[in-house]
Amino acid sequence: MKSNKIALGIESTAHTWGVGLVDFTGKVLSLVNDVFVPEKGGLHPALVREQHLNNFTRVINEALTQAKCSIKDINLLAFSQSPGLGPVLKIGALVARMLGQLLKIPIIGVNHCIAHIEIGRLMCNIDDPLSLYVSGGNTIVSAYESGRYQIFGETLDIPIGNLLDSFAREAEIPHPGGPKIENLAKKSKKYLTLPYVVKGMDLSFSGLFTAAKRLLESEKYEKEYNLCDIAFSLQETAFAMLTEVTERALAHTEKTEVLLTGGVAANKRLQQMINSISDEHNAKFEVVPLKYAGDNGAMIAWTGILRYKSKGEFNLTETIINPKERMDNISIPWRS
Ligand code: AMP
Ligand code: MG
Repeated sequence: MKSNKIALGIESTAHTWGVGLVDFTGKVLSLVNDVFVPEKGGLHPALVREQHLNNFTRVINEALTQAKCSIKDINLLAFSQSPGLGPVLKIGALVARMLGQLLKIPIIGVNHCIAHIEIGRLMCNIDDPLSLYVSGGNTIVSAYESGRYQIFGETLDIPIGNLLDSFAREAEIPHPGGPKIENLAKKSKKYLTLPYVVKGMDLSFSGLFTAAKRLLESEKYEKEYNLCDIAFSLQETAFAMLTEVTERALAHTEKTEVLLTGGVAANKRLQQMINSISDEHNAKFEVVPLKYAGDNGAMIAWTGILRYKSKGEFNLTETIINPKERMDNISIPWRS
Protein backbone atom coordinates (compact mmCIF):
# COMPACT_ATOMS: atom_id res chain seq x y z
CA MET A 1 0.00 0.00 0.00
CA LYS A 2 1.42 3.41 -1.01
CA SER A 3 1.20 6.24 1.53
CA ASN A 4 0.01 8.94 -0.88
CA LYS A 5 -2.87 8.59 -3.25
CA ILE A 6 -1.83 8.16 -6.90
CA ALA A 7 -3.40 9.21 -10.18
CA LEU A 8 -2.73 7.58 -13.53
CA GLY A 9 -3.03 10.06 -16.38
CA ILE A 10 -3.50 9.14 -20.02
CA GLU A 11 -2.61 11.55 -22.81
CA SER A 12 -4.23 10.67 -26.13
CA THR A 13 -5.12 13.74 -28.19
CA ALA A 14 -2.75 13.27 -31.14
CA HIS A 15 0.64 11.65 -31.83
CA THR A 16 1.51 10.79 -28.22
CA TRP A 17 0.12 7.95 -26.14
CA GLY A 18 1.48 9.11 -22.81
CA VAL A 19 1.04 7.65 -19.35
CA GLY A 20 2.11 9.41 -16.17
CA LEU A 21 1.75 8.47 -12.52
CA VAL A 22 1.55 11.39 -10.12
CA ASP A 23 0.83 11.36 -6.40
CA PHE A 24 -1.70 13.72 -4.82
CA THR A 25 1.08 16.04 -3.58
CA GLY A 26 2.28 16.61 -7.17
CA LYS A 27 5.27 14.26 -7.18
CA VAL A 28 5.70 12.65 -10.60
CA LEU A 29 6.41 8.93 -10.12
CA SER A 30 6.73 8.00 -13.78
CA LEU A 31 6.29 9.23 -17.31
CA VAL A 32 6.29 7.02 -20.41
CA ASN A 33 5.45 8.06 -23.98
CA ASP A 34 4.93 6.26 -27.22
CA VAL A 35 4.98 8.73 -30.11
CA PHE A 36 3.61 8.17 -33.60
CA VAL A 37 5.99 9.53 -36.25
CA PRO A 38 4.47 9.81 -39.74
CA GLU A 39 6.59 8.33 -42.53
CA LYS A 40 5.33 11.09 -44.78
CA GLY A 41 2.61 13.74 -44.61
CA GLY A 42 0.78 14.75 -41.45
CA LEU A 43 -0.93 12.73 -38.72
CA HIS A 44 -3.39 10.26 -40.18
CA PRO A 45 -5.93 9.63 -37.38
CA ALA A 46 -6.53 6.01 -38.37
CA LEU A 47 -2.79 5.20 -38.30
CA VAL A 48 -2.24 7.01 -35.00
CA ARG A 49 -5.19 5.17 -33.51
CA GLU A 50 -3.73 1.80 -34.62
CA GLN A 51 -0.39 2.63 -33.01
CA HIS A 52 -2.03 3.68 -29.73
CA LEU A 53 -4.20 0.55 -29.70
CA ASN A 54 -1.12 -1.61 -30.23
CA ASN A 55 0.92 0.07 -27.52
CA PHE A 56 -1.35 1.21 -24.73
CA THR A 57 -0.88 -1.76 -22.36
CA ARG A 58 2.88 -1.76 -22.81
CA VAL A 59 3.09 1.95 -21.96
CA ILE A 60 0.78 1.59 -18.94
CA ASN A 61 2.82 -1.37 -17.66
CA GLU A 62 6.10 0.49 -18.15
CA ALA A 63 4.75 3.49 -16.26
CA LEU A 64 3.62 1.25 -13.39
CA THR A 65 6.98 -0.53 -13.29
CA GLN A 66 8.92 2.74 -13.36
CA ALA A 67 6.85 3.99 -10.41
CA LYS A 68 7.19 0.62 -8.63
CA CYS A 69 3.41 0.40 -8.47
CA SER A 70 0.80 -2.15 -9.25
CA ILE A 71 -2.43 -1.19 -11.00
CA LYS A 72 -4.15 -1.78 -7.63
CA ASP A 73 -2.23 1.17 -6.15
CA ILE A 74 -4.00 3.62 -8.49
CA ASN A 75 -6.68 5.76 -6.83
CA LEU A 76 -7.74 8.00 -9.70
CA LEU A 77 -7.80 7.79 -13.49
CA ALA A 78 -7.50 10.90 -15.63
CA PHE A 79 -7.59 11.07 -19.42
CA SER A 80 -7.40 13.75 -22.09
CA GLN A 81 -11.01 14.40 -23.03
CA SER A 82 -10.53 17.44 -25.30
CA PRO A 83 -9.44 18.92 -27.73
CA GLY A 84 -7.83 16.62 -30.28
CA LEU A 85 -8.34 14.11 -33.06
CA GLY A 86 -11.67 12.34 -32.42
CA PRO A 87 -10.60 8.75 -33.24
CA VAL A 88 -7.47 9.17 -31.12
CA LEU A 89 -9.20 10.82 -28.15
CA LYS A 90 -11.61 7.88 -28.17
CA ILE A 91 -8.84 5.38 -27.39
CA GLY A 92 -7.77 7.27 -24.26
CA ALA A 93 -11.37 7.68 -23.14
CA LEU A 94 -12.11 4.02 -23.78
CA VAL A 95 -9.10 2.74 -21.87
CA ALA A 96 -9.71 5.15 -18.95
CA ARG A 97 -13.40 4.34 -18.73
CA MET A 98 -12.77 0.59 -18.82
CA LEU A 99 -9.93 0.69 -16.30
CA GLY A 100 -11.86 3.02 -13.99
CA GLN A 101 -14.84 0.70 -13.94
CA LEU A 102 -12.76 -2.46 -13.59
CA LEU A 103 -10.77 -1.00 -10.70
CA LYS A 104 -13.81 0.81 -9.26
CA ILE A 105 -11.96 4.12 -8.99
CA PRO A 106 -13.02 7.65 -10.01
CA ILE A 107 -12.44 8.96 -13.54
CA ILE A 108 -11.77 12.55 -14.58
CA GLY A 109 -11.72 13.95 -18.13
CA VAL A 110 -9.15 16.69 -18.67
CA ASN A 111 -8.77 19.46 -21.23
CA HIS A 112 -5.33 19.03 -22.80
CA CYS A 113 -4.56 22.77 -23.09
CA ILE A 114 -5.40 23.40 -19.43
CA ALA A 115 -3.19 20.44 -18.48
CA HIS A 116 -0.21 22.06 -20.25
CA ILE A 117 -0.64 25.13 -18.04
CA GLU A 118 -1.23 23.24 -14.79
CA ILE A 119 1.89 21.10 -15.17
CA GLY A 120 3.78 24.32 -15.92
CA ARG A 121 2.50 26.00 -12.75
CA LEU A 122 3.54 22.91 -10.78
CA MET A 123 6.97 22.36 -12.33
CA CYS A 124 8.01 26.02 -12.49
CA ASN A 125 6.55 26.80 -9.09
CA ILE A 126 4.58 29.80 -10.32
CA ASP A 127 1.08 30.85 -9.47
CA ASP A 128 -0.71 32.94 -12.04
CA PRO A 129 1.10 33.18 -15.37
CA LEU A 130 0.27 34.52 -18.76
CA SER A 131 0.88 31.42 -20.89
CA LEU A 132 2.08 30.96 -24.42
CA TYR A 133 1.30 27.39 -25.45
CA VAL A 134 2.96 26.49 -28.74
CA SER A 135 2.85 22.99 -30.16
CA GLY A 136 2.16 20.85 -33.20
CA GLY A 137 -1.59 21.23 -32.71
CA ASN A 138 -2.07 24.47 -30.75
CA THR A 139 -1.01 28.11 -30.54
CA ILE A 140 -2.73 29.89 -27.64
CA VAL A 141 -2.02 32.89 -25.44
CA SER A 142 -4.09 32.58 -22.27
CA ALA A 143 -4.35 33.63 -18.65
CA TYR A 144 -6.62 32.96 -15.71
CA GLU A 145 -9.33 35.55 -15.24
CA SER A 146 -12.91 35.38 -13.84
CA GLY A 147 -12.82 31.65 -13.06
CA ARG A 148 -11.48 30.48 -16.42
CA TYR A 149 -8.38 30.29 -18.57
CA GLN A 150 -9.32 33.06 -20.97
CA ILE A 151 -7.85 33.00 -24.46
CA PHE A 152 -6.31 36.33 -25.45
CA GLY A 153 -4.88 35.29 -28.79
CA GLU A 154 -4.72 32.18 -30.93
CA THR A 155 -4.00 30.97 -34.42
CA LEU A 156 -6.72 31.46 -36.98
CA ASP A 157 -5.43 28.67 -39.19
CA ILE A 158 -2.42 26.36 -38.67
CA PRO A 159 -0.52 26.04 -35.37
CA ILE A 160 3.11 27.17 -35.16
CA GLY A 161 4.55 23.64 -34.80
CA ASN A 162 2.55 22.57 -37.81
CA LEU A 163 3.95 25.52 -39.78
CA LEU A 164 7.52 24.47 -38.96
CA ASP A 165 6.89 20.77 -39.62
CA SER A 166 5.02 21.45 -42.89
CA PHE A 167 7.73 23.75 -44.18
CA ALA A 168 10.36 21.17 -43.20
CA ARG A 169 8.48 18.53 -45.13
CA GLU A 170 8.57 20.77 -48.24
CA ALA A 171 12.33 21.07 -47.77
CA GLU A 172 12.58 17.27 -47.41
CA ILE A 173 13.60 17.48 -43.78
CA PRO A 174 12.29 14.50 -41.77
CA HIS A 175 9.64 14.90 -39.06
CA PRO A 176 9.68 16.63 -36.59
CA GLY A 177 10.98 19.63 -38.49
CA GLY A 178 10.98 22.20 -35.67
CA PRO A 179 14.34 21.30 -34.07
CA LYS A 180 16.06 20.97 -37.48
CA ILE A 181 14.73 24.35 -38.63
CA GLU A 182 16.12 25.82 -35.41
CA ASN A 183 19.61 24.44 -36.20
CA LEU A 184 19.51 25.66 -39.81
CA ALA A 185 18.33 29.11 -38.67
CA LYS A 186 21.37 29.45 -36.41
CA LYS A 187 23.60 29.47 -39.50
CA SER A 188 22.03 32.57 -41.07
CA LYS A 189 21.50 36.25 -40.39
CA LYS A 190 20.03 37.04 -43.79
CA TYR A 191 16.41 38.11 -43.42
CA LEU A 192 14.12 37.54 -46.40
CA THR A 193 10.83 39.42 -46.23
CA LEU A 194 7.89 37.16 -45.36
CA PRO A 195 4.24 37.96 -44.56
CA TYR A 196 3.69 38.98 -40.95
CA VAL A 197 0.00 38.48 -40.16
CA VAL A 198 -1.41 39.51 -36.79
CA LYS A 199 -5.13 40.28 -36.86
CA GLY A 200 -6.16 41.99 -33.66
CA MET A 201 -4.81 39.54 -31.08
CA ASP A 202 -4.91 36.51 -33.39
CA LEU A 203 -2.29 35.00 -35.66
CA SER A 204 -2.35 33.58 -39.15
CA PHE A 205 0.51 31.36 -40.33
CA SER A 206 -0.84 29.88 -43.57
CA GLY A 207 0.29 32.78 -45.78
CA LEU A 208 3.70 32.58 -44.16
CA PHE A 209 3.88 28.88 -45.00
CA THR A 210 2.97 29.50 -48.64
CA ALA A 211 5.48 32.33 -48.97
CA ALA A 212 8.30 30.27 -47.41
CA LYS A 213 7.45 27.37 -49.71
CA ARG A 214 7.60 29.71 -52.71
CA LEU A 215 11.09 30.76 -51.68
CA LEU A 216 12.11 27.09 -51.92
CA GLU A 217 10.57 26.78 -55.38
CA SER A 218 11.98 30.03 -56.76
CA GLU A 219 14.82 29.99 -59.29
CA LYS A 220 16.71 32.33 -56.96
CA TYR A 221 16.90 29.50 -54.40
CA GLU A 222 20.47 28.37 -53.80
CA LYS A 223 21.74 31.27 -55.92
CA GLU A 224 20.75 34.35 -53.92
CA TYR A 225 19.77 32.66 -50.66
CA ASN A 226 19.81 29.18 -49.13
CA LEU A 227 17.73 26.96 -46.84
CA CYS A 228 19.35 28.42 -43.71
CA ASP A 229 18.23 31.92 -44.76
CA ILE A 230 14.64 30.75 -45.24
CA ALA A 231 14.68 28.87 -41.92
CA PHE A 232 16.02 31.97 -40.17
CA SER A 233 13.44 34.27 -41.80
CA LEU A 234 10.59 31.87 -41.11
CA GLN A 235 11.48 31.65 -37.42
CA GLU A 236 12.09 35.37 -37.02
CA THR A 237 8.74 36.24 -38.60
CA ALA A 238 6.61 33.61 -36.86
CA PHE A 239 8.24 34.15 -33.46
CA ALA A 240 7.96 37.94 -33.72
CA MET A 241 4.22 37.49 -34.34
CA LEU A 242 3.94 35.27 -31.25
CA THR A 243 5.97 37.73 -29.23
CA GLU A 244 3.84 40.71 -30.25
CA VAL A 245 0.61 39.04 -29.20
CA THR A 246 2.11 37.72 -25.96
CA GLU A 247 3.44 41.16 -25.08
CA ARG A 248 0.10 42.84 -25.68
CA ALA A 249 -1.69 40.23 -23.56
CA LEU A 250 0.92 40.77 -20.84
CA ALA A 251 0.41 44.54 -20.90
CA HIS A 252 -3.36 44.05 -20.76
CA THR A 253 -3.51 41.43 -18.00
CA GLU A 254 -0.58 42.86 -15.98
CA LYS A 255 0.43 39.34 -14.96
CA THR A 256 3.82 39.11 -13.25
CA GLU A 257 4.73 35.68 -14.60
CA VAL A 258 5.07 34.37 -18.16
CA LEU A 259 5.00 30.65 -18.94
CA LEU A 260 6.21 29.16 -22.22
CA THR A 261 5.02 25.63 -22.91
CA GLY A 262 4.28 23.05 -25.64
CA GLY A 263 6.84 21.28 -27.83
CA VAL A 264 7.95 24.47 -29.61
CA ALA A 265 8.96 25.90 -26.20
CA ALA A 266 12.22 23.97 -26.73
CA ASN A 267 13.27 26.60 -29.27
CA LYS A 268 16.05 28.80 -27.86
CA ARG A 269 15.32 31.74 -30.15
CA LEU A 270 11.65 31.78 -29.11
CA GLN A 271 12.68 31.53 -25.45
CA GLN A 272 15.00 34.50 -25.94
CA MET A 273 12.28 36.64 -27.53
CA ILE A 274 9.62 35.88 -24.89
CA ASN A 275 12.21 36.32 -22.14
CA SER A 276 13.04 39.78 -23.41
CA ILE A 277 9.44 41.07 -23.39
CA SER A 278 8.93 39.49 -19.96
CA ASP A 279 11.94 41.45 -18.71
CA GLU A 280 10.58 44.67 -20.15
CA HIS A 281 7.34 44.16 -18.22
CA ASN A 282 9.14 43.05 -15.04
CA ALA A 283 7.54 39.63 -15.29
CA LYS A 284 9.25 36.39 -14.27
CA PHE A 285 9.85 34.16 -17.30
CA GLU A 286 9.67 30.37 -17.07
CA VAL A 287 9.98 27.62 -19.66
CA VAL A 288 8.35 24.34 -18.69
CA PRO A 289 11.08 21.62 -18.44
CA LEU A 290 11.06 19.94 -21.84
CA LYS A 291 10.02 16.54 -20.50
CA TYR A 292 6.80 18.18 -19.31
CA ALA A 293 6.40 20.82 -22.05
CA GLY A 294 5.47 18.35 -24.79
CA ASP A 295 2.42 16.11 -24.55
CA ASN A 296 2.63 13.72 -21.59
CA GLY A 297 0.47 11.75 -19.17
CA ALA A 298 1.74 13.47 -16.00
CA MET A 299 0.09 16.76 -16.96
CA ILE A 300 -3.22 14.92 -17.40
CA ALA A 301 -2.83 13.09 -14.07
CA TRP A 302 -1.99 16.31 -12.20
CA THR A 303 -4.90 18.27 -13.69
CA GLY A 304 -7.18 15.33 -12.88
CA ILE A 305 -5.99 15.50 -9.26
CA LEU A 306 -6.70 19.24 -9.06
CA ARG A 307 -10.19 18.80 -10.42
CA TYR A 308 -10.90 15.74 -8.25
CA LYS A 309 -9.77 17.48 -5.05
CA SER A 310 -11.94 20.52 -5.72
CA LYS A 311 -15.03 19.07 -7.37
CA GLY A 312 -14.94 15.28 -7.10
CA GLU A 313 -15.25 12.70 -9.84
CA PHE A 314 -17.08 12.75 -13.18
CA ASN A 315 -20.23 10.74 -13.82
CA LEU A 316 -19.65 8.22 -16.58
CA THR A 317 -22.03 10.26 -18.73
CA GLU A 318 -19.64 13.22 -18.43
CA THR A 319 -16.69 11.27 -19.82
CA ILE A 320 -17.61 11.55 -23.49
CA ILE A 321 -14.83 13.06 -25.62
CA ASN A 322 -15.12 16.59 -26.98
CA PRO A 323 -12.68 17.03 -29.90
CA LYS A 324 -13.35 20.75 -30.35
CA GLU A 325 -13.78 21.99 -26.79
CA ARG A 326 -12.01 25.28 -26.05
CA MET A 327 -10.16 25.78 -22.80
CA ASP A 328 -12.10 28.99 -22.09
CA ASN A 329 -15.30 26.97 -22.02
CA ILE A 330 -14.28 25.15 -18.85
CA SER A 331 -14.58 26.52 -15.31
CA ILE A 332 -11.57 26.06 -13.05
CA PRO A 333 -12.89 25.30 -9.55
CA TRP A 334 -9.42 24.68 -8.08
CA ARG A 335 -8.37 28.26 -8.67
CA SER A 336 -11.48 30.17 -7.60
P1 AMP B 1 3.91 18.84 -29.12
O1 AMP B 1 2.82 18.95 -30.16
O2 AMP B 1 3.69 19.73 -27.93
O3 AMP B 1 4.27 17.43 -28.74
O4 AMP B 1 5.24 19.42 -29.81
C1 AMP B 1 5.71 18.96 -31.04
C2 AMP B 1 6.07 20.15 -31.91
O5 AMP B 1 7.19 20.87 -31.34
C3 AMP B 1 6.48 19.75 -33.30
O6 AMP B 1 5.81 20.60 -34.22
C4 AMP B 1 7.98 20.01 -33.31
O7 AMP B 1 8.50 20.33 -34.58
C5 AMP B 1 8.08 21.18 -32.38
N1 AMP B 1 9.43 21.38 -31.82
C6 AMP B 1 10.14 20.54 -31.03
N2 AMP B 1 11.36 21.06 -30.75
C7 AMP B 1 11.42 22.26 -31.39
C8 AMP B 1 12.41 23.29 -31.50
N3 AMP B 1 13.59 23.18 -30.93
N4 AMP B 1 12.10 24.39 -32.23
C9 AMP B 1 10.89 24.50 -32.83
N5 AMP B 1 9.93 23.57 -32.76
C10 AMP B 1 10.19 22.46 -32.05
MG1 MG C 1 -0.01 19.58 -26.55
